[in-house]
Amino acid sequence: MQIKIHRGINQIGGCVTEIRSKKAKILIDVGTNLPNCDSKVKVNVAKVSKKCDAVFISHYHLDHIGEYMQVKKEVPIYIGEQAKEIFTIYQKRMKEPSIAEVTQEHIDRIKTFKTFRPEETIEIGDMRLTPIRIDHSAFDSYMFLIEADGKRVLHTGDFRMHGPLGRLIPKILEDVGNVDILICEHTTLSRVDEILMSEFELQKEAIDLIKNNKYVFIMCASTNIDRIASFYHANRKAGTKLFICDDYQKEILDYVTKTTLKHTDYYNFSDVKSFDGKFYEDMINRGFCMLVRSNYFSKKFVNSPNFKDNLFIYSQWLGYLQGKTADENIVKFVPKEYYYLHSSGHATAKGITEVCNIVKPKVIIPIHGENSHDFDKLNLPYKVKHLKNKKAYDI
Ligand SMILES: [Zn+2]
Ligand SMILES: [Zn+2]
Repeated sequence: MQIKIHRGINQIGGCVTEIRSKKAKILIDVGTNLPNCDSKVKVNVAKVSKKCDAVFISHYHLDHIGEYMQVKKEVPIYIGEQAKEIFTIYQKRMKEPSIAEVTQEHIDRIKTFKTFRPEETIEIGDMRLTPIRIDHSAFDSYMFLIEADGKRVLHTGDFRMHGPLGRLIPKILEDVGNVDILICEHTTLSRVDEILMSEFELQKEAIDLIKNNKYVFIMCASTNIDRIASFYHANRKAGTKLFICDDYQKEILDYVTKTTLKHTDYYNFSDVKSFDGKFYEDMINRGFCMLVRSNYFSKKFVNSPNFKDNLFIYSQWLGYLQGKTADENIVKFVPKEYYYLHSSGHATAKGITEVCNIVKPKVIIPIHGENSHDFDKLNLPYKVKHLKNKKAYDI
């Protein structure tokens, strides 16, 4: 087998990984660089996807899927079933005239994406690929186990152990067993100043915040379903406040409710209300939690004199608000006084160590982190291979 990281070494995001066996060639993720990323590494996805048998997307964050339009049309793109639908709703919103970042051509391409299901192995030539559902700040995210030429490679995608699904990962990976190569993300190893709390700790803290504040605005990613679930459950535990969002967010939550209800009640968002003006008085009287984003619709509520004594919770990466990675729209939108309550979508050093000790790789290839040598500091008893972007590695 041969592994080539086209991009993703010594940078967070922009991931493109190629894996070849004797008779098959696939790509895992075709991501764009994160905004304001310093990386100078350019990848011509049209070129590298040529003669590929398939492209597999670990999850719908743009640093893993953003270059999908560059993939050669004859090459099938695979993604999780729910991930495909949520990404479609998200991209349709990006098509709205006020945003106009994508066109109908994008939506048509997404329609052609094939889907896979957790644990169902797909055969591509002499290669076997098994998607393993894991926990991340994107819903329906996967690791991939690739087997060919008598070797086993585990690509982690982005993952964490400290969310609702994370608790199950050790058991799932024990079933996977030992691997030859672990291609492993290590985002948090360079974000050492980040306070790392679990999703459950966040939910607990949110209950008190909601209890103590009548009007609560929450800013988090519209596609971070586990985060929305944390605030939704915190709100229910805190009392009788309304839980409100806009039509776009409601469409995503309705889809998640519909497709998960058979298995769990945890993602049942059926009493989340999409704002239609009718219950404005109710909002004033009962109080509310409202999911907001940096747009005019949200701004009207955040700035309204009716909700003057509100609490604004900022629940996503601080890098969007501060420093060189700051996003201008977000900086303008978030009030000066905000409450920071966030749980990372990425595994802590402890989580990464745990995964390594379960699958006991012969070799670890660090990706999706600022500096691959951060991995050495974990002092794990496994060989760490510091690859260069675009350099082929034979196993
Ligand atoms: Zn990522
Ligand atoms: Zn991600």
